Amino acid sequence: MFDPLHLIDGEWCAEEGVAPIQVLNPSDGQPLLEIARGGQASVDKAVAAAQNALDGDWGQLDAAERGSLMFRLSALVLDHADKLAELEALDVGKPLKQAKADAIACARYFEFYGGAADKLHGQTIPYKNGYTVMTVREPHGVTAHIIPWNYPMQIIGRSVGAALAMGNACVVKPGEDASQTALYIGKLALEAGFPKGALNIVTGFGGEAGAALSSHPGVRHISFTGSTEVGRLIQKAGAENTIPVTLELGGKSPQLVFADADIDAALPFLVNASIQNAGQTCSAGSRLLIQDSIYDEVVGRIADAFNALQVGPALQDLNVGPVINAKQCDRVKGFIADAKASGLPVLGEGKIVSDAPDGGFYVAPTFFGEVSPDHRLAQEEVFGPVLAAIRFKDEADALRIANGTKYGLVAGVWTRDGARQMRLARKLEAGQVFVNNYGAGGGVELPFGGMKGSGHGREKGFEALYGFSTSKTIAVNHN
Ligand code: ADP
Repeated sequence: MFDPLHLIDGEWCAEEGVAPIQVLNPSDGQPLLEIARGGQASVDKAVAAAQNALDGDWGQLDAAERGSLMFRLSALVLDHADKLAELEALDVGKPLKQAKADAIACARYFEFYGGAADKLHGQTIPYKNGYTVMTVREPHGVTAHIIPWNYPMQIIGRSVGAALAMGNACVVKPGEDASQTALYIGKLALEAGFPKGALNIVTGFGGEAGAALSSHPGVRHISFTGSTEVGRLIQKAGAENTIPVTLELGGKSPQLVFADADIDAALPFLVNASIQNAGQTCSAGSRLLIQDSIYDEVVGRIADAFNALQVGPALQDLNVGPVINAKQCDRVKGFIADAKASGLPVLGEGKIVSDAPDGGFYVAPTFFGEVSPDHRLAQEEVFGPVLAAIRFKDEADALRIANGTKYGLVAGVWTRDGARQMRLARKLEAGQVFVNNYGAGGGVELPFGGMKGSGHGREKGFEALYGFSTSKTIAVNHN
């Protein structure tokens, strides 16, 4: 095992005299573990350690050597995938199978970015005679990674992976409800042989450790995934220090199902995109737009699928686990109650298994329809297992409804008409558009991020390497 302490400069530590944070198990509401509560002092130490690593052993490595360390870390994450999956299932409440898939994706991120570490080339630029001009990519320096609780392993893999590949030194602040896999990955990074200080982890509350990290003058880039409200605070903190900020915020992502779609193929994606991780996914497909002529058929089949969903403890590995905590549970139930009170019919509803512990944070997945496009349920992010069916007439109507929220993270289009696929793919306001599939964030290789209220900057894929590095132009006069 490992101690749930901060990882700073290759050592496990905590602030003296500061009581730890009690973390609850969402599957039963009982105490799960205590984690260290970091504040300004821990963040100062971690940022200094990261800067020392840049000035020392870590900064001295060749790009390919950084890549080799990342391959080793990837292999260790795979070796420990079962353990990591169990920790994340216990912390987050996600069914074990989903947690295992996340561990494998995390390993793949370190592999992908390890391979990319020595492959981002600069340019040479034609200029005046007697000059040679080139651009080189350089790390920002110390990068901050503020991680939410919903997909800790995947989000650490994608942001820390890209940052390390480009030679930055990282300070990670995991979500206070789900820090265990971050710390375990930290332990594996030490085993892999990363120089001390290249990867530091400070656990604690957002308003303390998170705020201290995002406003730290030694930090040169912030990568944040989480709520829109906190994203705004992070952007302001970044503005104070004039540093770049990558924000991946919420979404109200639509799936557009046209009358000519292959409904059999679409169905599992339509259901899964809304209930995966109990709907606590930024890119959840939470709006289901269905063309008039097939509305009843599709809605009927989705309702059947919802009625068959089983909800229970993470380790029982059913379709859906609990939501993360009591606050989130109340919030999601509030959305459901409001929708019912406004007269929206429930078309389908999953079942919480009878042996689910009473103290667990369970919400029955709920499918509502027909929802008007301006209803709260069609406009606001629920971050729970709730799906809203919306009817549309034609392509123009579908596009208007799809783009008619403040968000723009992901969209799905289901149609066999090739020209329509491309028309919509180009006009939908979303950082990712899936045609006849839906990726809930997509694969490791696919650039991901938002438009409009869903944030800015791109993580994942090769494109993330540009965000996690900066360009320098070198002009040499050799006349
Ligand atoms: P979620 O809805 O996923 O809980 P949050 O935006 O609340 O999203 O949290 C995402 C991450 O941001 C967590 O690690 C949390 O501790 C951190 N955080 C919350 N508040 C702040 C803040 N004021 N400054 C910096 N980080 C914060």
